[in-house]
Amino acid sequence: MDDIDIIELVKNTDICKNCKNIVIGKGNLNADIMFVGEAPGKNEDEQGLPFVGKAGKNLDEMLSKVGLTLDDVYIANILKCRPPENRNPLPEEIRAHTPWLVKQIKDIKPKVLCTLGNYATKFFLSNGDVDKMDSIPGITSIHGKVKHIVFEGLNITLIPLFHPAAIIYKRDLLPLWYEDMEIVKGEVKLSGEQKTLF
Ligand code: URA
Repeated sequence: MDDIDIIELVKNTDICKNCKNIVIGKGNLNADIMFVGEAPGKNEDEQGLPFVGKAGKNLDEMLSKVGLTLDDVYIANILKCRPPENRNPLPEEIRAHTPWLVKQIKDIKPKVLCTLGNYATKFFLSNGDVDKMDSIPGITSIHGKVKHIVFEGLNITLIPLFHPAAIIYKRDLLPLWYEDMEIVKGEVKLSGEQKTLF
């Protein structure tokens, strides 16, 4: 599928017709680490950038505590448009927006992909099959666990993380997030070493 078709698919969804901006992503297109959240919220829709509201500010702070900046990561969402009133996305909307995300992963080729929160985690672990998402274990039991998955034909090292919005209200998750980020950094290092072996 070429880029024009990928964009057209998104533009034809109702959530796209009702949003202010298509939110593509931000950060370094050559980053080793890619973060993927669910969908833009109100602030993201207004500014056209992911994670710029309260959750985004918290993510920025947490990244800086582990010595990372936007130059070290790329941040995107599964959905490129804000669902009205933040309703759950419809299966056909998810299907229409997935090719753009797949293209981003192919272009960036992250060494580690971190899903932010339950929704994105279940989405990847069910290979994008919305009907199977309910059967995937929740973020509480699988955060920080390294998963080697094939998603839409791509080999991905995936590490689920708590969503930065959840950590605003549940401060006891913060130390776990930092521990999980050490696991992410370890995997990035490991993948660099493996590459030099071949
Ligand atoms: N939550 C998300 O999942 N994505 C954003 O861009 C903002 C909040």
